[in-house]
Amino acid sequence: MLHPAFVEIHLGHLRHNLEQVRRRLRSAELIAVVKEDAYGHGLVPVARTLQEAGVRHFAVVRLAEAVALREAGITGSILLLGAAFSEELAICVAHDIDVTVSSPVLAEAVCATAQRHGPLRVHVKVDTGMGRLGLWPEEAPAIIHRLEQTPGITLVGLCTHLATADRPGDPFMQEQLERFERLWRQVGDAFAVRHVANSSALFTLPVSYWTGPRQQARIGAALYGYLSCPELIEANDLRPVMRFMARIVQVRTVPPGTTVSYGRTWTAPGRRRIAVVGAGYGDGIPRRLSNRGQVGLRGRRFPIVGTICMDMTLIDLGDPETAPDVQEGEPVVFFGEGGPSITEVARWAETVPYELSCATARRVPRHYQETQR
Ligand SMILES: *Cc1c(COP(=O)(O)O)cnc(C)c1O
Repeated sequence: MLHPAFVEIHLGHLRHNLEQVRRRLRSAELIAVVKEDAYGHGLVPVARTLQEAGVRHFAVVRLAEAVALREAGITGSILLLGAAFSEELAICVAHDIDVTVSSPVLAEAVCATAQRHGPLRVHVKVDTGMGRLGLWPEEAPAIIHRLEQTPGITLVGLCTHLATADRPGDPFMQEQLERFERLWRQVGDAFAVRHVANSSALFTLPVSYWTGPRQQARIGAALYGYLSCPELIEANDLRPVMRFMARIVQVRTVPPGTTVSYGRTWTAPGRRRIAVVGAGYGDGIPRRLSNRGQVGLRGRRFPIVGTICMDMTLIDLGDPETAPDVQEGEPVVFFGEGGPSITEVARWAETVPYELSCATARRVPRHYQETQR
């Protein structure tokens, strides 16, 4: 079957990015974040590739994904970053999944589960300024003490999450780091490791930060080759793992004044060659790209014209006399090698690159390949 829309996942680039991340981390350990189906790249294929390359720690947000990783033969530690429901904790025991304690209620539930169902490995999250999940630094020591005293609980990591790591030099990030360090000095002895950094922090924190002992980092985006700050992608030679392609399903010539697609938002300024491409917002192409995005075709860029539909997008190939002689079945590049970068498309769509990779629909098959063609 000739799929109208498909994504290529370049595992060679994933390995390359892993090496770039490791080089930066020095002695610190990597926790590979593979939540949301590995940011749309495919949970199990990505995790297996990373495991074969020596990665020993993984993290997801949903319990179903943690269990899927275990069932797929991932043997390293699997950390549930999200706020687990108390009823789920026994499943974590059964599948040897590490849990994050991010509230006093969850701390109590973890203690009860460890006593009733068996041993649990626990990370404690503190809110130093993200304003999302985590114990307050003031309440954390007593709760950590309680966890430490409970039989069956192993305290693994103390962690926090940064709100502004993608803005190099941001003073609020410094403030968060200081709050965390203060708590670590107080309670750090109870833990094997600590982890604070995400991808942006990995490249914005000074190299000296990574030489501290007992460090881990939770890295997602950089492994897939995207960061919200494009300069950091270039400077650290990260390569895009995903390429989004769709095939031309029909080519037609329209007379001047023809309007195309819903709402008639584009009018042909002259005779035009229009390619109908077989991917739309139902495949994960943001509708926001209507009349503002571009695609790559034969080494050139062509504009998206008219409103993007659920299953189709229209491309203006130009004056029929000079338009490329394309055929049905030929692929165009929505993002990736041979077309706009995912960062460029994210800018047009007013979002971040990982929203685009996550948005690639499940009906779009993933083609795994070792190298970029
Ligand atoms: C998603 C997530 C990460 C990874 O962030 P990236 O910017 O993709 O590296 C780290 N920590 C937590 C808590 C997360 O939810």
